[in-house]
Amino acid sequence: MMTKKGRVFSGARPTGRQHLGNYLGAIQNYVALQDEYECIYCIVDLHALTTVETTENLRQNTYEMALDWLAAGIRPEGTIVFVQSHVPQVTELHLILSMVTPLGKLTDLPTFKEKVRQQPDNVNYGLLGYPVLMTADIVLYKAQLVPVGIDQAPHIEFARETVRSFNHRFKTDVLIEPQMKTTEVPKVLGIDGKEKMSKSLNNHIELAATPEETRQRVMMMVTDPQRIRRTDPGNPDVCNVFSMHKIFSAAEEVEMINIECRRAGIGCVDCKARLAANLNRHLEPFRARRAEIARNPDYIWDVLHDGARRARQIAEKTMEEVRAAVQLP
Ligand code: SF4
Repeated sequence: MMTKKGRVFSGARPTGRQHLGNYLGAIQNYVALQDEYECIYCIVDLHALTTVETTENLRQNTYEMALDWLAAGIRPEGTIVFVQSHVPQVTELHLILSMVTPLGKLTDLPTFKEKVRQQPDNVNYGLLGYPVLMTADIVLYKAQLVPVGIDQAPHIEFARETVRSFNHRFKTDVLIEPQMKTTEVPKVLGIDGKEKMSKSLNNHIELAATPEETRQRVMMMVTDPQRIRRTDPGNPDVCNVFSMHKIFSAAEEVEMINIECRRAGIGCVDCKARLAANLNRHLEPFRARRAEIARNPDYIWDVLHDGARRARQIAEKTMEEVRAAVQLP
């Protein structure tokens, strides 16, 4: 693979069919990065084991997610797309890195404390070691850049410190410190207009939904809560429908809504119907490509297996250097 401006690594849990929040927050960026960087995108099924209640949907969720990524424009000819557990070297590096990780550092991480609060009955070791596995994911492929939202900054800093500890302890420079590539990620609210769009809250709009399903979800969107009657003026600045218009509608239409909403010149039903039409138009090429790829399910697994083969080549080379640095016999 040709080196471009550098190597990017990103991982995401297998959450099945992707929604608009995933698309605007991550996938769009994944697609754009391919033009300038050598990209490695991983579906982190092992990470998912720390929180899932059941694994029966793991395979299907992996398939659906990969399908959405490819339909959205991830190009597997250049980009490596693979499943985390298909590269077992990551678990070996995870274990070795755990030896240079002070326990207190892990228990102090805000994300760990948050998980303990969320699932007090399932505080497993994997949850604690999550950032170590995440570090192993990144450094195994010697990625220079990790595209993340600002909320992930502590994990990247943790990865950098772990690399320094490893290199210092074993007097080597085989592992490289990754840098954060902070992206402007819009906070995409769900149709409830309150919480971040998420499948678990059932406030999402799936990319692969039919045009009619999409329209129905958009028509359910919460608008300016102060606007009770059609004749009340609204405030687009506090309306999630308007936020979506700014992403999916033409500038003139956005401007028209901005003016007309404030003087009750447009009703919310009409406003949402316009958004649904624009959103459906925007998603049309994605859906067509998705349907085309889905005609051959084997293709998705072929892509993932080929990605894992290429990923293993990089991973094994790193591990040979790591084992030598640690002086494993
Ligand atoms: Fe929101 Fe549109 Fe209704 Fe204004 S007209 S409150 S922007 S849905």
